[in-house]
Amino acid sequence: MRNKITIAIDGPAGSGKSSVSKIIAKRLGLLYVDTGAMYRALTLKAMRNGIDLGKETDLAGLAHNTEIELTHKEEGTVVLLDGQDVTEKIRGTDVTNNVFYLARAEGVRECMKRLQRKIAEKGDVVMEGRDITTVILPDADYKFYLDASFEERVKRRRKELEQNGKQFVESELSKDIKIRDKKDLTRKIAPLRKAEDAIVVDSTGMSLEEEAEAVISYVK
Ligand code: C5P
Repeated sequence: MRNKITIAIDGPAGSGKSSVSKIIAKRLGLLYVDTGAMYRALTLKAMRNGIDLGKETDLAGLAHNTEIELTHKEEGTVVLLDGQDVTEKIRGTDVTNNVFYLARAEGVRECMKRLQRKIAEKGDVVMEGRDITTVILPDADYKFYLDASFEERVKRRRKELEQNGKQFVESELSKDIKIRDKKDLTRKIAPLRKAEDAIVVDSTGMSLEEEAEAVISYVK
């Protein structure tokens, strides 16, 4: 029997993290864990409950009193927020625009750290996000930082929105990604950065399959 493996992946929006992680999980028989979905689910609850997003202590309290579960079905990850399926709702623009409030709150991140480490404890996981290689699983067997040029990431985002039949304003696309990058890179706690020992894969000009192949080629 082979040993269990843990793969940690970080990277900015549009770097292909989610799609590549899904392919790898399927190919290697690992559990796929989308940590961004957890921050998104909590953001949705904060908005629904009318919580002041500027109050970090209130957000931390909310995180402690919320159950977030990722379950896995044939069609992909199902996100349960206090038992309710919010898989589609957490992808809305309102959630995307407000998630940084939760992501910068120390108490929220502590809560997420505990939950994410617990999930990874059993091994055989591929976990992706912004602080997985640096904070959550710094001792993972394999650590990757996925990247792509800014133009490429905007192109991918456009394609994704088109494929999902979502409306968007062209001029807002690159602006939104730029703002999100800046917030993720500059927050005080657990900002997005390359772990010193992470393998960097730049997927500019590659298809998702090629990007996944490039990552898998490092995994023995
Ligand atoms: O990966 P996704 O784009 O869905 O993540 C949404 C947001 O959640 C990110 O922009 C980031 O602010 C936050 N996040 C985070 N740490 C993670 C995963 C996501 O701060 N590990």
